[in-house]
Amino acid sequence: MNSWSADEAARYARQLALPEFGPAGQHKLRAARVLLIGAGGLGSPAAMYLAAAGVGSLGIVDPDEVELSNLHRQILHGTADAGRPKVDSARETLTAASPHVRVETFRERFTAANALDLARGWDLVVDGSDNFPTRYASNDACVALGIPNVYGSVWRFEGQVSVFAPHLGGPCYRCLNPQAPAAGSVPGCAEAGVLGVMPGLVGTLQALEAIKLIAGLGDLLTGRLLHIDAIAMKFREFTLRCDPNCARCADGRRQLPIEAEGEFCEASGIMTNDEISVTELAALRGAADAHVLLDVREPWELAVARLDPCLTIPMGEVPQRTAEVPRDVPVYVLCHGGVRSGTVVEFLRGRGYANVRNVRGGIAAWSAEVDAAVPTY
Ligand SMILES: [Zn+2]
Repeated sequence: MNSWSADEAARYARQLALPEFGPAGQHKLRAARVLLIGAGGLGSPAAMYLAAAGVGSLGIVDPDEVELSNLHRQILHGTADAGRPKVDSARETLTAASPHVRVETFRERFTAANALDLARGWDLVVDGSDNFPTRYASNDACVALGIPNVYGSVWRFEGQVSVFAPHLGGPCYRCLNPQAPAAGSVPGCAEAGVLGVMPGLVGTLQALEAIKLIAGLGDLLTGRLLHIDAIAMKFREFTLRCDPNCARCADGRRQLPIEAEGEFCEASGIMTNDEISVTELAALRGAADAHVLLDVREPWELAVARLDPCLTIPMGEVPQRTAEVPRDVPVYVLCHGGVRSGTVVEFLRGRGYANVRNVRGGIAAWSAEVDAAVPTY
């Protein structure tokens, strides 16, 4: 169908008036199918602008529920949405913004296991994920399917945007970062602060690149990384090169099976001897067994929720303050999700602490499994 309804003609008038875009661009948008991974800080502005611009079909993948601490940056969601699935809130906001967008929702985590199934049938992917396993799975699926992957990430006052599309001649994410960093070597999700406008800025640039890709407009960020330093307010550009030995996009490797890469922010899966579950911890605290609970979260996190009695040393100060950690009783190390605390357990073992274990799942698991009165964030 090539004709416009009166609503569409009025709604998109200012886009239709752009000579470089015009009716041809608008038709392409209407026919386009865009998959957004994440309805969070990056996905919110990206989804809002894509829906408002007239993209015909938007898919949204997100397993999480809305939390109050999301609202300063995740503008798809409002105060009344706290506790609801993000995909539900996103669908309502987007369809309210435009009746012309079809929203398909997937309330699950985008992983190596479901990446191909989720990404197949879409024209491009906008990756608004905040963890390495999803980022690698998104990259690998897009390369395998031959569709562009519009990448964005934010770290405090810095942002990055690029378009990974080996089929268009550029590199993929793995060409730059062949492997995910070891768990715990980068700060976890909870301790890094961010102003809401930072993902707002980066997600908006991702939407712009997606629209340019769909409309066939302008120069894309393929083979280029745009780096934003908001403190200095400098935008810099780096040229990216394809790695001829890339494990994913080199010749003959694009269709290889997609395997899990990296660790999710929240500790999950297998429990080792180095770990204790929150229910075990609750039992021994209830029995008043002699022990020390070492909480390695940041002061702002402790202000939200803490499990007294405990010893508090932020992760970054543990090396200087190791002497405060007793050696004569068992030590259980706690953080938000179990990643930072795992790093501290490894560090303390390296310093000769034999009886130190990680609290698996952190205070988030405590809130979910032991005491719902402990607020999560
Ligand atoms: Zn590559």
